[in-house]
Amino acid sequence: MRAPLFNGGGTHEPTHTSMSRRRVVILGSSGSIGESALKVARDVPERMEVVGLAANRSTAKMLAQIAEFHPKAVAMTDAACAQEVRGATTVPVLEGEEGLCELATMPEADLVLIAIIGTAGLRPALAAIEAGKDIAVASKEILVMAGETVMAAAREHGVSVLPVDSEHNAIFQCLEGRSSEQVRRIILTASGGPFRTWPATDLAKVTVEQALKHPTWTMGAKITIDSATLFNKGLEMMEARWLFDVEMSRVEVIVHPQSIVHSMVEFVDNSVLAQLSTTDMCFPIQYAVTWPERVPNRLPPLNFAMLGQLTFEAPRFQDFPALDLARWAGETGGTLPAVLNAANEIAVAAFLERRCSFPAIWQTVEKVMRAHHVIPHASLEEIVAADGWARTAAREHLG
Ligand code: MG
Repeated sequence: MRAPLFNGGGTHEPTHTSMSRRRVVILGSSGSIGESALKVARDVPERMEVVGLAANRSTAKMLAQIAEFHPKAVAMTDAACAQEVRGATTVPVLEGEEGLCELATMPEADLVLIAIIGTAGLRPALAAIEAGKDIAVASKEILVMAGETVMAAAREHGVSVLPVDSEHNAIFQCLEGRSSEQVRRIILTASGGPFRTWPATDLAKVTVEQALKHPTWTMGAKITIDSATLFNKGLEMMEARWLFDVEMSRVEVIVHPQSIVHSMVEFVDNSVLAQLSTTDMCFPIQYAVTWPERVPNRLPPLNFAMLGQLTFEAPRFQDFPALDLARWAGETGGTLPAVLNAANEIAVAAFLERRCSFPAIWQTVEKVMRAHHVIPHASLEEIVAADGWARTAAREHLG
């Protein structure tokens, strides 16, 4: 018998009862996902109560969110910003990584949404799990870097890991708790990004402005560049491997420019289930909050006659090497996924600062991956060390 599909899987029942209001902590409330989560809280207030909010430096946004949602406590990662917020509210204001962990374990919370950019969400996520909270994961890095550790901790503590990425949320909906033995393939859809139809020879000329124009989704800068290189999809392949307990060989990518089919699962009987909706992150966030129930909302429904057609095409593996690099990292495991992720972060930052070309992003990642000595089944400390090593190696490569 294989391990259950996600987290407490076979035995764990959701702790909330029918029509209960989930008490949610949002780590990263000033970002794009955080703001969508607050939209959900406004849309289905009878199902979602905001009990904690954390941001990095956005003091004005935080004060506005406190005034609207009346959380029990908040946190600012930046100490000076925490001090500024303290001066303008009576709500307790925590600070730093410690503050994030404290917020993630607060007794008033049932569910912690991890929507912090980069690796800063890793320790708060583990703290939440150890405190018996369900976590909703929007930060890819958590499962890419430490998927093995995080899923093992979730099983041990009997909590659920609910995916908020639209693709993984779609797969979660298609699976409905079925074990991975019944799955033949997980098929992640990709928009293909703004350069889907560009000739390979033009990719060296891509500007920051062009790369920041995503055809179907509005998101933060880092993830928008990742969508243009397809590293976003590569990170999602590795996420899926851990979330749904399938080997990389069962995780595939298909380009679907309309971004209406959010992903699909092919079962062993060759039947395929897909989840469709308009492109709005409120859909996956709401499902993570109300799961396993569905409740009405004010989100726009699909109009198939207006859509006309949904199309699919094979990814251009040769011209967008991110997918093959991610498959390699996912199959190898250990510290290599963390190395891919860290090198990519450094290269994307360099591209955004116009210090390197667009193809230099994947060239840097490949170079750093090839130079890395992989530690299999790495501990959290080894993963964090590999992350640091890869950042230095990427910076050196970029000059
Ligand atoms: Mg996604």
